[in-house]
Amino acid sequence: MVVLRRCAAAALLLLTTASVAQAQRRFTTVHRCTPAQRDAGCLIVLGSGTPVPDPERLGPAYAFVFGDQTLLFDAGAGVMRRVAGAGLRIDGFTSVFLTHLHSDHTLGLPDVLLTTWVMGRRTPQRLIGPPGTERMTASILDAWKDDIAVRTDGLERGQPGGQRADVREITGGVVHDSAGLKVTAIAVPHGEWKHAFAYVIETPTRRIVLSGDAAPGPALEAAARDADVLVHETYPEMRLRPEARPGGDAWPRYMRSVHTSDREVGVLAAKAGVKLVVLSHVVRMGGTDAELVAGVRRGGYNGPLRVARDRDVY
Ligand SMILES: [Zn+2]
Ligand SMILES: [Zn+2]
Repeated sequence: MVVLRRCAAAALLLLTTASVAQAQRRFTTVHRCTPAQRDAGCLIVLGSGTPVPDPERLGPAYAFVFGDQTLLFDAGAGVMRRVAGAGLRIDGFTSVFLTHLHSDHTLGLPDVLLTTWVMGRRTPQRLIGPPGTERMTASILDAWKDDIAVRTDGLERGQPGGQRADVREITGGVVHDSAGLKVTAIAVPHGEWKHAFAYVIETPTRRIVLSGDAAPGPALEAAARDADVLVHETYPEMRLRPEARPGGDAWPRYMRSVHTSDREVGVLAAKAGVKLVVLSHVVRMGGTDAELVAGVRRGGYNGPLRVARDRDVY
């Protein structure tokens, strides 16, 4: 009888272990940085999407992990779900950087501020972005002030003040330099936005450039020189045509002046000698991965090239 009971207990334990492993496998369909990758500096694509609510591609967001520092670049919709999926801390980041204030890049900012607080953050979240970031942050906290009051004053016993952000508005230059990890903001042209940034992330052994949203320009080209990885926004040039909607005739002009075509990414990457190009935040207009690759090749870049998917690790 005792033996039987022991067997049953062992079987139950096995079953439980199996279900936990199964659940974890579900979560580990995401890719995570290995310890060696963390030591060198590891980029995780949290969201490779655009304003289009594609369920496979969340809003633009990238994490960069180096040692015990975790940086977040942009806060697209769904960001904190992906942060959890990538096995990163959910109670705050070393620093959060915004490329610009377009809604697709900032829809997850309330999620970043409030979820990290609810998950245990007690100190202000360091937040770096263009002029206007302070106002946006204040408006977010104002919009959720009833929630903040209920969570703080009610039985949840939320930590007072933990939702705050320590905002630094920037116009370019070195914006983070700590324990071998340096981040430089590069002003890029992005239509009518007065301030939009690409970010250069450097560790002792890696140099990664995130274009943010940008039309082609010399500053980003210079910043991308010899980069190990260039993550660049794009659209398939061959698909660009007026759209059948009011104002849709201006669409090609808009795209050309505000974004960078696949061919133009190829031109930039070839000139800059980039070691790996990753296309992300792709305004598809029906274009396939093969068309995008062909577009980049037309621009003259023949090196390694990927089309980003959410959860990719570089
Ligand atoms: Zn934009
Ligand atoms: Zn965008």
